[in-house]
Amino acid sequence: MTTTTITVGGTTDVGQVREQNQDSILLGPVLFGVADGMGGHQGGEVASALAVEVIAEHLGAVDEPTTQDLRDAVVRANRAVYDRSGTDPAVAGMGTTIVGIAIVTDNGTERLAVINVGDSRAYRYHRGELSQVTDDHSLVGELLRDGRITAEEADVHPQRNVITRVLGIERDVVVDAFHFPAVPGDRYVLCSDGLTNEVPDVEIAATLREIDDPDDAARVLAHLANDNGGRDNITVVVVDVDGPERPEGLVPDADDFSHHDDSDTQAYTPLSDDELDEAFGRPAAPLDRLRDEDEDETDDDGPVAMSRRERRARRRAERERPRALTLRSFVFVALILALVGGGVYLVNDYATNTYYVSVDSEEVAIFKGRPGGFLWVQPTVVEHTGIDIDDVLPADVSSIEDGVVQSSLSRARTYVKNLRERIDKTTPPVTTTTTSPPVTRPDKTPTTVTVTTATGNTGG
Ligand code: MN
Repeated sequence: MTTTTITVGGTTDVGQVREQNQDSILLGPVLFGVADGMGGHQGGEVASALAVEVIAEHLGAVDEPTTQDLRDAVVRANRAVYDRSGTDPAVAGMGTTIVGIAIVTDNGTERLAVINVGDSRAYRYHRGELSQVTDDHSLVGELLRDGRITAEEADVHPQRNVITRVLGIERDVVVDAFHFPAVPGDRYVLCSDGLTNEVPDVEIAATLREIDDPDDAARVLAHLANDNGGRDNITVVVVDVDGPERPEGLVPDADDFSHHDDSDTQAYTPLSDDELDEAFGRPAAPLDRLRDEDEDETDDDGPVAMSRRERRARRRAERERPRALTLRSFVFVALILALVGGGVYLVNDYATNTYYVSVDSEEVAIFKGRPGGFLWVQPTVVEHTGIDIDDVLPADVSSIEDGVVQSSLSRARTYVKNLRERIDKTTPPVTTTTTSPPVTRPDKTPTTVTVTTATGNTGG
């Protein structure tokens, strides 16, 4: 019988560019995580779905899961994908990553286990700090760990999509495992590279600070990835460790607060469903339900994975319990109100205290806010410049499309003035409008993925 309970939310999204979603989400039993498939027209989809299916089936038959059970499940998934790839020419060469988290009992000790193969990631959010748990099984990940390149070089490395370990490419696979004590209030994020290539770690951490509900947090993270380009499929699973100490999971204590500078936000500010829908601008991929853990039937604390509705009902029930208004609880409530108010103020301030130059319907314009917006605050156009984006020098186009951030309106105007001078200097005056093709930003991710194995290169 497990005493730890977790609450899980997640979403998977095709993104802005790809036509298919080759990611698969794994929502139990036992293991919660993400598989990012790759290879061929249908291969990636088949590989990730097959891996998730085999793992769920294997773990569904286990009574008290151990880390070894997780490894066995992943080894089985590897063999299933490998065998299918070898017998079905339509999906030859397919592969998939897998990253997942589970409550396990190893030698009588209950703890959390994270398993990983590939370049999907698990993060732990502990006392306000976000850290990556897993090693990326990619070429740049290895070069980085060996100290042969810097993080900045890794971000722009031409071979940053080369994966060095993946399910389904070889008969055998080595599975990484990491262990953590189940600390109430800790949150874990498991995600495909469609999130981490688009959303920097500081924004992931800020979202985890802001959004209490794990399902909402996963949806907001996917939304941020889409806002930043959505060049790949995006799958996010957020796992909260429940517990009596921080039942709402997210209210930072004074220690956490002091770790962050004022440009960040600390307070828990829940979003209503309407606000979320508005933030998305379109319906987000919903999670219909979360499967409950089998082994937990005898546990009075409830199932390991509660649905959102169950969780809300429980919270409501707890709220209705009469409570004495002690000085301590009064101070606590006052502190929460101050934090919420401060957080809303900080988010609004952070989201609107800059200007940037970007494109508004083919015309260079000055915006107030952050490129792509920040959480629920969207940027607004303050001035159009009359400069057609097609007239801008090629060297300037990409940065303007990303948004050139300036600290004030006058600085943004100076930037536009210089931009205009550069254009006037290099273009002879013309009276006809140009019909050059629209300039597109170079795709950050190459469309072909090479899978490197110990024995050489295999087309992915
Ligand atoms: Mn991917």
